[in-house]
Amino acid sequence: MKCQVCGAATEKGLTTSVTDLSGCLIIVRNVPCYKCSECNEVIYSADVVQHLENIIEAAKKLMQEVSIIDYSQAA
Ligand SMILES: [Zn+2]
Repeated sequence: MKCQVCGAATEKGLTTSVTDLSGCLIIVRNVPCYKCSECNEVIYSADVVQHLENIIEAAKKLMQEVSIIDYSQAA
């Protein structure tokens, strides 16, 4: 997979996704991604995006100020 920003090669890795919603911050750790070796742009595959959305939806319902979730442990 190539970087969408600069076109350099990307490597598989893990990242932390931070979503800032009004009044609550949702942090998902250990999210699988592709990282650009040049500009550090992070690219998620479609199934990861879908899974992240599910995690964020579930976290929203908890209404906590800060939610920290491990990607691999989320349903
Ligand atoms: Zn790049």
